[in-house]
Amino acid sequence: MKFSVDDILRPCVRGIEPYSPGRPIEEVKREYGLSDVVKMASNENLLGPSPLALEALGREMSGINFYPDGSARRLKEAIGARLGVEPGQVIAGNGSDEIIRIIAETFLCEGEEAVISDPSFVVYATAVRVAGGRCRVVPLKNFSYDVDSLLGAVGEKTKIVFFANPNNPTGTMLSREQADRFMERIPRRVITVFDEAYYEYVESPDFPASLGYLEKGMPVVCLRTFSKIYGLAGLRIGYGITRQDMVSEMNRVRQPFNVNSLAQAAAAAALEDSRHLEKSRKLNSEGKRYLYAELDRLGIEYIPTQANFILVRTGRASSVSRRLLRGGIIVRGMAGYNLGDCLRVTIGLKHHNERFVNALRESLEEEE
Ligand SMILES: *Cc1c(COP(=O)(O)O)cnc(C)c1O
Repeated sequence: MKFSVDDILRPCVRGIEPYSPGRPIEEVKREYGLSDVVKMASNENLLGPSPLALEALGREMSGINFYPDGSARRLKEAIGARLGVEPGQVIAGNGSDEIIRIIAETFLCEGEEAVISDPSFVVYATAVRVAGGRCRVVPLKNFSYDVDSLLGAVGEKTKIVFFANPNNPTGTMLSREQADRFMERIPRRVITVFDEAYYEYVESPDFPASLGYLEKGMPVVCLRTFSKIYGLAGLRIGYGITRQDMVSEMNRVRQPFNVNSLAQAAAAAALEDSRHLEKSRKLNSEGKRYLYAELDRLGIEYIPTQANFILVRTGRASSVSRRLLRGGIIVRGMAGYNLGDCLRVTIGLKHHNERFVNALRESLEEEE
């Protein structure tokens, strides 16, 4: 019997690109015979996790024979208290990636549309397509959001608009003024998602207060994560803040025990660790200024960032990142984002950043 997987595949799944992650450290060590490799490819916190989170993990470990709290009550109360929202306005996810899926699966009907920018976070398009929806893609203008074109792309069938703010991979942000203008004009039946994965790193005073739109009752979802500044990417935990009625509907779609007990405990502890947060923020700010200065010195263009990564125009980024790999530094080539001359580098600790700059300098000299 001849059988093709195409005969049983959901048509909306056909053609979705599998996510391509940054290369794991161990794999690079083995392939290049290196003992010391630094990963500056996935915007993780290179300071490591909060010590308080590690302690909480230790305490939680002996209870993993029990299912986690399916409603993540303690964590949602802590988040609610911190942000001045009701715990019932919070939904926890197995990474904010999962909440992006839940939003699409809860609200998007087959054939409805989501408006996304390009380049931006690739997870939005996958979530939309898996839910049977379509994407309208609006190019960034000068590496930043083009609010007028985004509004122009909103039509009868539009249900969701996604903003990564700050945007990944550019590090640019939608300003308060742009966000206000967008929210004034967007029809009330459209959900606006502000994915603020890098919120804690933002230094600009013009960053929008997305929770303010929620206070006015607008259908906004604000996403935050423990994967970036909190240093818990391996545990997979993020959260969304939105209207209580929207959380109730999303809870129908959410898996009953979607966030594991170790992640819940570590996240609640990390939230209390203001020292780790401040230290991480300061290191990032200093690292950013160091990298700007060194890139300027090398005459390499980059996009000023509000996050913990920088988009750098090295030219022929795939060969540059291969040479960096040989030097034990993993960065992210941007060919998949149609930015073949750029790479994205995570801002690390001082010695990581210095090592990156030195390897980059050597790589460029080698090319000449
Ligand atoms: C890293 C990142 C996330 C975080 O995803 P998690 O699933 O919470 O690890 C979300 N959005 C953007 C734009 C990101 O860059």
